[in-house]
Amino acid sequence: MTLDYSERMGSIKASEIRELLKLTQKPEIISFAGGLPAPELFPVEIVKEMSAEVLDEMGTQALQYGPTEGFDPLREKIAKRMKKFGVDTEAKNILITSGSQQGLDFTGKIFLDKDDVVLCESPSYLGALNAFKAYQPKFIEVPTDNDGMNMDELEKILESTDNIKVIYVIPDFQNPSGRTWSVERRKRIIELANKHNLPIVEDNPYGELRFEGEMPPSIKSFDTEGRVIFLGTFSKTFCPGFRLGWTCAEYEVLNKYILIKQGADLQASTLSQMILDRFLTKYDLDEHIEKIKAVYVKRRDLMLKTMEEEFPKEVSFTRPEGGLFTWVTLPEHINARDLATKAIEKKVAFVPGGSFFPNGGNENTFRLNYSNMDEERIVIGVTRLAESIKEMI
Ligand code: PMP
Repeated sequence: MTLDYSERMGSIKASEIRELLKLTQKPEIISFAGGLPAPELFPVEIVKEMSAEVLDEMGTQALQYGPTEGFDPLREKIAKRMKKFGVDTEAKNILITSGSQQGLDFTGKIFLDKDDVVLCESPSYLGALNAFKAYQPKFIEVPTDNDGMNMDELEKILESTDNIKVIYVIPDFQNPSGRTWSVERRKRIIELANKHNLPIVEDNPYGELRFEGEMPPSIKSFDTEGRVIFLGTFSKTFCPGFRLGWTCAEYEVLNKYILIKQGADLQASTLSQMILDRFLTKYDLDEHIEKIKAVYVKRRDLMLKTMEEEFPKEVSFTRPEGGLFTWVTLPEHINARDLATKAIEKKVAFVPGGSFFPNGGNENTFRLNYSNMDEERIVIGVTRLAESIKEMI
């Protein structure tokens, strides 16, 4: 049977890494592939307690439909938490979404027609690229270095390209590179976006997971014209299973996201929002984040140390000050997809970097996650990976 699918489905292909990720479900595989938080840090007992309280005290309300914008007490708390990112805002500027991933999909729906241009970092988050692809845009990758997107290159592209609709960036502990933008570039991108009247989508799931140094102000904190759409999430600071994130924007812009959410799924889960809200009332999320960071920093240190000791000198990697990922660059003649096949034989998985470049290339790169494996498995996995690399070099 062949059904007549929409044209947009033509641009949606099964991700090559999906099969690889399926393999990582097997317990014997040491997986640095996904972006999964450490499950042992999920506050299961507290969630049980908060769920019981919500159902006891406001059960019928918690099981009922609620407003599209989200549960007001939770929106208020998020608006206050935006101060951490240097943003002064109010509940009316917050829409609760089903994860920040939904904010990415809505961004495509709101801004992109076929053949419109999205500017993104090179590399960029695969899940965002896939979400945008449904709207059939073209991607222009802006080169990046250790301080983030190259602003001179961005300026050149902005001056020479028609039809740019969105600039999409992940300035804090970027997925996949682990890099963080300098403050200077955060200011400069605002100047450029102002000049060209473009929206910036600032995707920030990892900024609060900083192990050392000062948290830089968000790009949105420098926004004086209301053109930055900030996407936040509780997936990495609380748990991803609740699927709760938020979009923070000027009301006029946010209203578009609200209208689209009505058509997409009416609202985020009332019950999840109420349980999370109660958690935020009775417990200190920042204290919980400190516990998460204490575990992740050790895993990062151990991964970097083992890579330093075991990887051949021709291999380079980033040194993230937080977040979940480090990014590895192999000598140019080595293809990371071939390496992934070899590594799987040794029961180690990672994501080859080529998938993070919408226009292809860069097959000698890959991403490693350090949040999901315990310390012993990190050492064993990185050592086996080093053996596979040496066999290929
Ligand atoms: N943006 C980035 C950069 C991510 O890495 C992720 C998840 N790994 C998301 C958005 C989506 O996260 P969620 O929908 O769980 O909030």
